[in-house]
Amino acid sequence: MSLTRDDCAARDRKDPLAPLREQFELPHGVIYLDGNSLGVLPRETPARVAQVIAQEWGADLIRSWNSAGWMTLPQRIGDKIARLVGAGAGELVVADATSINLYKVLAAALAMQQADAPGRTVIVSERSNFPTDLYIADSLAQQHGCRLELLEPEELLPRLQGPHGADVALLMLTHVNYRTGRMHDMAALTAAAHAAGATAVWDLAHSAGAVAVDLHAANADFAVGCGYKYLNGGPGAPAFVWAHPRHADRFRQPLSGWIGHAAPFEFTPDYRPAPGIARYLCGTPPILSMAALECGVDTVLAAEPLGGMAALRSKSLEMTRLFADLVESRCAGHGLRVVSPRDDALRGSQVCLARDDGAYAIVQALIGRGVIGDFRAPDVLRFGFTPLYLRFVDVWDAVEQLHQVVASGEWCDARFAARAAVT
Ligand SMILES: *Cc1c(COP(=O)(O)O)cnc(C)c1O
Repeated sequence: MSLTRDDCAARDRKDPLAPLREQFELPHGVIYLDGNSLGVLPRETPARVAQVIAQEWGADLIRSWNSAGWMTLPQRIGDKIARLVGAGAGELVVADATSINLYKVLAAALAMQQADAPGRTVIVSERSNFPTDLYIADSLAQQHGCRLELLEPEELLPRLQGPHGADVALLMLTHVNYRTGRMHDMAALTAAAHAAGATAVWDLAHSAGAVAVDLHAANADFAVGCGYKYLNGGPGAPAFVWAHPRHADRFRQPLSGWIGHAAPFEFTPDYRPAPGIARYLCGTPPILSMAALECGVDTVLAAEPLGGMAALRSKSLEMTRLFADLVESRCAGHGLRVVSPRDDALRGSQVCLARDDGAYAIVQALIGRGVIGDFRAPDVLRFGFTPLYLRFVDVWDAVEQLHQVVASGEWCDARFAARAAVT
């Protein structure tokens, strides 16, 4: 490949999304390829959180629940996220963690299925889905007398369309696989699930803010997603949850807390769910975390005048394609295999490499050089590309560092071998 670093710099100069990088507090000397695990700190966030602490909490105290709109933050930020995932206003709220929201929607979807079609007892998912999704689904399946069935991606459609499709209650998938970056066809799988009489639940953890998602066009039933990855909401930021409006007054909330009550401040002894998605709130919203999340979501919405998610997606595809091409040409002969799909339609916003040995140590050596990706067991080097703040020269430089690490054998140094708790 004859591309040079100057060609990458030229691409940056022509990139209409380049100014969006100014929204972030990027540490010097770091190329950050882990925004799919923890997004970068937005410039606005420290001041906004400080203001919430000093003014809204410190000075205004309890009055801020009304005067600063604390009570409606889950809906206000929810409406903003809705714009990024093809949902309507009032259909999505910010609440709890992704794991917990998954519990809530799976319980609701299973209850609806068991009321309509008690014979359906299978939750179908993907074997390499993110573990929390599988653990939560398995736990719910056990509680409801159901069973979780795990398949390979190419087995999903035949399973739904096959003769036994009639026993499937739910299809639960993560749109973009956390380890390989492989992206499912949400519309096709949802349609197949519906044709089989099943309900489709989507986890958008690696999609929201990263790839174009259109929940309505795909006719999905339920969705959850994560605030601290591509939405830049900060470590442990609250997650979000969506239900298609056709289910709005039917689905229930297994964690029937008072904030999801129709009238929390009537303090009645009986639970009456709030209309629509608001019933998916449970306890008191974490206001400081919500303030940070809103700043993060705003950094993605800032792309709207520049073409929005479609423009971000096309830059992301260019970056992931460039990274994979450069790895294959410049790191050839060093045992690295690109394991993310090369087909744009099947690839999220990350590129994963695999190596028979040394994957963890290579990632550590790269981090030592300021190129931050991560390692996913057993053999994957994972690199996330956030088009909001990455430049094409960063892609070039990251591959250059990777080449130096593998070509020099630097990763064999003992100091890169010891595994930390978070990989
Ligand atoms: C990151 C991620 C989660 C995170 O769940 P938490 O409850 O925030 O820990 C869940 N599911 C998927 C697919 C993820 O990628």
